[in-house]
Amino acid sequence: MRQELDSDLGIKIGLEVHCQITSLRTKLFCSCPSNYRDYEPNSVICEICMGLPGSLPRLNAKVIESALKIALALNCEIPPVTNFFRKNYFYPDTPKNFQITQYDKAGGVPIAHNGFLDSWQGRVRIRRIQIEEDPGKLSYDGNIVTSPYALVDYNRAGIALTEIVTEPDLKNPRHAREFLFKLRSILEHIGVSDGSLEGAIRADANISLAGGKRVEIKNVSSFKEVDRALNFEITRQKRLPGGVMETRHWDEVRRVTVTLRVKEEEEGYRYFPEPDLSPVTVSRDLIDRLKAIMPELPDQRRARFVNEFKVSDEVAKIITSEKAMADFFEEVILLQYSPKIIGGWLAVDIPGYLKRRGLDFKEIGINPSHLAELAKELADGKINDNVAKSILMKILPVGESPRKYLEIENEMDEPSLREIVTRVFARNSGAVEEARHDPRVIDFLIGQGMKETRGRADHALLRKLISEKLSQESRSNQPKP
Ligand code: ZN
Ligand code: MN
Repeated sequence: MRQELDSDLGIKIGLEVHCQITSLRTKLFCSCPSNYRDYEPNSVICEICMGLPGSLPRLNAKVIESALKIALALNCEIPPVTNFFRKNYFYPDTPKNFQITQYDKAGGVPIAHNGFLDSWQGRVRIRRIQIEEDPGKLSYDGNIVTSPYALVDYNRAGIALTEIVTEPDLKNPRHAREFLFKLRSILEHIGVSDGSLEGAIRADANISLAGGKRVEIKNVSSFKEVDRALNFEITRQKRLPGGVMETRHWDEVRRVTVTLRVKEEEEGYRYFPEPDLSPVTVSRDLIDRLKAIMPELPDQRRARFVNEFKVSDEVAKIITSEKAMADFFEEVILLQYSPKIIGGWLAVDIPGYLKRRGLDFKEIGINPSHLAELAKELADGKINDNVAKSILMKILPVGESPRKYLEIENEMDEPSLREIVTRVFARNSGAVEEARHDPRVIDFLIGQGMKETRGRADHALLRKLISEKLSQESRSNQPKP
């Protein structure tokens, strides 16, 4: 139903995803440190990233390799020469009044173009990948519309980004979210961008409904918000068909989009080649070398999990959607080879728990040995599936070993121990008879009871129950006077 509705509306969604190259130690064109989040506002800046007169940008050469790895992972074509352009605009987040970026017209050649990423709902074409510098960060008092002022922090200005631009191939908000998760997993696997850092991966979305104008949504801070913002826009555009082409701001607090500016035409940016940077040659050798050292990507890892560990494709797909989860899975498997049990917990139970609490996988407190310990108990048949799951839910929030809960679980309660004693008596009638006269034989019966419970019985309680039963039976066996 929902799918039909989406296609009837003619929804077209495209994404522009900005990814910080977090593996670099310095900014894109200067030697300011790249871990700007760790510093006081406006304390890691220099004449280059502030664009002071007389300063010249110098390209951090390592960014080329990182961007090329992304390009290879996204099946892009890579031109032999790439160059930089200036995008001119006046806004307080850019101290230079222009951003050094790449362009695909007027002689501009971005680092890569014409790629694709196969998502669960179909192929999404990648239009281009460009390298560019991040602007500074603006903060408001409350929201952008009502705030009486804007604060600006230039620590982020000049940080190396790649912008990944898709064709409008995404069919609905859920598709957009799936795409972003897969892209993030790919970036994590290549090791160029750590998606857990605040603002390291940011998406702008553009969306149009059949016949309507294209609206761009900015300032979407998380993947969850992408979903919300797009759903809001679908509803808004359905109610107000034929609106204007504009850029809207996603207000996370009120959960609405508001007009930011009626879309400037590209000419408004007066793009021209960056005169202070020469074009960069990308050799065939470099590409071949990078291809040779490309790490395993999520799709390959997923296929390997299915082949090697015999987990279902669905389970493998979920686990590899996040590198941290896939790594965790393999670590647990090394300690306790129960891939199906562990895969099920990681793909179903743990995500369910995280969703209920609005948490990320990286926020779980338990470590692989905790999960291995629990899986071993289940695999050895000492606890059943339900007990294992209930212990799992107890250890997830506190991040502790399941040991304590297993001990409680393993200790037999009195009624079940009584049943065991009855069984031991039935199987060992000879010994029971002897025990009536020789108290030392009671120890033999206790031993049988311990064996029966695989050592989980409370020794003293077992002795008490056996003694009680012996005296009861000898009383009832006595001939009636
Ligand atoms: Zn700098
Ligand atoms: Mn950009």
